[in-house]
Amino acid sequence: MFPKPQDKHRESWGFSISTTLAALQAFSDNNAIATWRSFSIRRQSGDVMRLILLGPPGSGKGTQAKLLCQRLGLCHFSTGDILREAVRNGTSAGCKAQTIMAAGQLVPDDIVNEIVAGRFRNHDRPERFVMDGYPRTLAQALAFDDVLKSQSLDLTAVVSLVLDDAEVVRRLGGRWSCPKPTCMATYHMVTKPPKKPGICDECQTPLVQREDDREETIRNRLAVFHGQNDGLANHYRGQGLLREIAGHGDIEDVYAKIIEVIASKRGQDL
Ligand code: AMP
Repeated sequence: MFPKPQDKHRESWGFSISTTLAALQAFSDNNAIATWRSFSIRRQSGDVMRLILLGPPGSGKGTQAKLLCQRLGLCHFSTGDILREAVRNGTSAGCKAQTIMAAGQLVPDDIVNEIVAGRFRNHDRPERFVMDGYPRTLAQALAFDDVLKSQSLDLTAVVSLVLDDAEVVRRLGGRWSCPKPTCMATYHMVTKPPKKPGICDECQTPLVQREDDREETIRNRLAVFHGQNDGLANHYRGQGLLREIAGHGDIEDVYAKIIEVIASKRGQDL
């Protein structure tokens, strides 16, 4: 559920096999420039790259976090995924979270903060990461500041994906995913349909719609987001970390904009 950093043992300057493969991949991808930039950042970045993705549900935080994880070797830290796993496993946090999540409300700060703080206290704590869905409230942001401070970890940037409500409803209403824990592939009935209707391309498991992706619940989730987002954004704006980018359009275009932000925050001329 919580991947370890994939590129911890990179040589100090020479190319490792994984970075060389990433470079070769750059020439076969549609958006070669963004991928090349990923490669270039990855080669130059040392071990320091820590991002938070903000944005409404359905703005693409999860999709972008997965790409950043694959291409830059960052840990993808999704509190939504962790909580869904806790629900599946029937842990005490999962039992408390289940009905709250199904209603599109926020799980109490203390439960989520403890999940995150616990992972960062571990000996294999994430060093290079992208946070997807955390923090979601000002109280969580303050708690996360304390966790990072206690671990002597600085954030590189906080990227806010901006998307209007109508587009959120359109996107989430068509979202289906594979429920198999080792797969979790995601589809969209309009923009990324599976080859066989209702069946996962990867593992042939019947697809499901998340309980909280039904229209009424999406409206609740949006209301919750709008109630929290200004405080959160102002907090990171005050720290000079916030960058807002348009979340609509092609996945690779959004990815390229995130890479631009990272490059500019790192003062690199890529
Ligand atoms: P997500 O997959 O990020 O859309 O999260 C799904 C659901 O999990 C949310 O609607 C919340 O109920 C819960 N959740 C995830 N992350 C948090 C968080 N940081 N704080 C509170 N609830 C959360």
